[in-house]
Amino acid sequence: MSERYHSVLLFGPPGVGKGTQGQILGKIPGFFHLSVGDVFRALDINSPDGKEVYQYSSQGMLVPDETTIRIWKRNIDALTILSYYKPHEDLLILDGIPRNQRQAEILEQHVEVLKIIHLKCSDIEAMVHRIRRRAIRENRVDDAHEDIIRRRFDVYERQTRPVLEYYPKKLIAEVDAFGSPAEVLLNILKDVVPVQNKHFRNEIEG
Ligand code: ADP
Repeated sequence: MSERYHSVLLFGPPGVGKGTQGQILGKIPGFFHLSVGDVFRALDINSPDGKEVYQYSSQGMLVPDETTIRIWKRNIDALTILSYYKPHEDLLILDGIPRNQRQAEILEQHVEVLKIIHLKCSDIEAMVHRIRRRAIRENRVDDAHEDIIRRRFDVYERQTRPVLEYYPKKLIAEVDAFGSPAEVLLNILKDVVPVQNKHFRNEIEG
C-alpha cells in the first residue's frame, strides 16, 4: 500500500456545520480542508460527471460510490501535484466522505483516519432552518425544497451514521455543534491540535 494521507474526518448530519468549520480550519497553516460537496458543485454541469452528480445530488441521494471515489481521487491528486495540498505538511480535513460503509472501505487504501469529529445537534429543526438559509445564500438546488432536505436526513440516518461503527471508538470525538462557530471551533481544536502535533510537529516548527 502506498503512503496514506493523514486525515481527520468531519462527520455529522446535513446542516450541522461541517462546511463552516472545515473552511475555517482550512485557513490555518498546517490544515487542508477538502469537501466532496464543494468538489461536486464545482463540476461542469454539462460534463458526463457533472450530469451524473447532479442527477443524484439534486434529489438528496448519494452519488454512486465508484463515481464519488473516482472524482475525489482525481481532485486530491491534482491538488497534490499542484502543491496546494502538501501531504507531508498538512493534516487533511475531509468533509462529506465517507458517506457509507463501502466508501469507508475503499477510502482505507488512500487515507489513514487519525480522528473523527462527530458533530452532533439534537435539534433537527434548527438544522433544517440553517439549510434553508444556506439555500438562499449559496443558491443550492438540494437545499431549496423541504422534502429533499428531509430525504438527506433520512439518507444520513440510514447510510451514513452507521459508518461510525466501522471505526474504532477511540478515534471518535463527540463535539456539540450547538453554539457559535467560534465555540464549536474551540471544541474541535481541542481534539484536532494534538493529532496535528503528533504527526506534523517538525514540519510546522521549521
Ligand atoms: P451537506 O452539507 O448538506 O451534508 P454536502 O455539500 O456535503 O451536503 O453534499 C451535497 C450532496 O452531494 C449530497 O447530498 C450528496 O448528494 C452528494 N455527496 C456529497 N458527498 C458524497 C459522497 N461521499 N457520496 C455520495 N454522494 C455525496
